[in-house]
Amino acid sequence: MLRRAVIARWAVAGALLAAGTRTASAQARALPSGDVHAIYARLLRQIERIPIFDHHAHPGFGDDGDVDAQATPPEHLPLRERESNPEFVVALKALFGYPYADLSPSHMQWVAARSAAAERAPGTAYFDRILDKCGIESSVANRVAMPAYLDPKRFRWAFFVDSFLFPFDNTLVTTANPDEGVYIPLQEKVLHRYMQQAGLSGLPDTFEGYLAFVTRTLEENQRRGGIAEKFEIAYFRSLHFEDPPLEAAASIYRRYRAGGIPSPEDYTTFQDYLFRYLVREGGRLHLPVHIHSAVGEGDYFSLVRGGVLNLENVLKDPRYLTTTFVLLHGGYPFFREVIWLAAMKNVYLDSSEIETLVYPSEFKTVLKLWLETYPDKITFGSDAYPYSAALGSEESYWLGVHSARDALASALAEMVASGEVTEPAALQLAHGYLHDNAAALYPAVAQ
Ligand SMILES: [Zn+2]
Repeated sequence: MLRRAVIARWAVAGALLAAGTRTASAQARALPSGDVHAIYARLLRQIERIPIFDHHAHPGFGDDGDVDAQATPPEHLPLRERESNPEFVVALKALFGYPYADLSPSHMQWVAARSAAAERAPGTAYFDRILDKCGIESSVANRVAMPAYLDPKRFRWAFFVDSFLFPFDNTLVTTANPDEGVYIPLQEKVLHRYMQQAGLSGLPDTFEGYLAFVTRTLEENQRRGGIAEKFEIAYFRSLHFEDPPLEAAASIYRRYRAGGIPSPEDYTTFQDYLFRYLVREGGRLHLPVHIHSAVGEGDYFSLVRGGVLNLENVLKDPRYLTTTFVLLHGGYPFFREVIWLAAMKNVYLDSSEIETLVYPSEFKTVLKLWLETYPDKITFGSDAYPYSAALGSEESYWLGVHSARDALASALAEMVASGEVTEPAALQLAHGYLHDNAAALYPAVAQ
């Protein structure tokens, strides 16, 4: 019985990957043979020509407050993200002909002046050109709102929904640690913005009214070009969501709508219901649900509460099969565990953040495991993000794309040299990861 199931799965996999994935008599080997460097060089030349669908980024100038729904608290940056990283100089030279060899404060004035001039230019040509230079066809923009300087044909909006989970007095959450003191007031601002957008001067009287407001906002944002709803909720609470009945959430809403500090237990129950409501609505409206699933900014980010396996009961709940989930940043550092969640047909991974948080040698390990397991479920994201008022998202687009192409060509070269896949099959996998797998999730907007 088991063997028949295995044979059936191999037949399906074979049909999907087309002939040539393995040679007829080949058995994969642990030690690569042949010239891995030559295979790498051949693959990289092809990979550099693949137009990219960037599944996750925060495009914008360094002083644009709508670039994210949250701000970065004071933190101890990992090595590669420090301004001492010479790769930023390489990116600045490649993109803008930066004339200096370091990022000293006086040289940063050159960067700031260049950025300010770009920001003053009218129209959308500037950021379109950045995408062109990086080989990106389109980029999903995680932003509070879309600015006039981003071309809506190239930049697709993913809008934030966490704020719907924080409508009450947030004193206890805000004071939990210094990071939350930075994050939660910004979530409150986003909720007020959504309420203004809906013409509400206060929270609706009933819970049914509140859910109707949530739905109206999702529909309105979709009408404005939104293609996905985005959660950063791992920054604020556990990724484990229980399944409380509607009446439990409704009674908590009635109790705290007009004031009073909810107990942590009550707030959690309310949020558990709201999260699942947003997941269901994401399925109904064909808005994929993007969830931050990796280690985050800020020194207080909890790896236990924010660990991606906490989501398993939701991701493997057959009631949500019509909702597409995208696990942003691939659960890092739990990348070995997260790929097995992609066994669910509606669960996808995005590799953003990882390729710039760590160096390509580590990222190659991540990608290789994923390519060897569920290659049809993995997608590229740059996580382009402004580093400072002077360094916008442009340099991180460049760094993310170049790191990913390098790690991808390296991982595939090892797979070819170990007899796991042929070179043509490796290129097919590269197209899937860099473009096709993600683009297929947004058929209405893919170019
Ligand atoms: Zn991000």
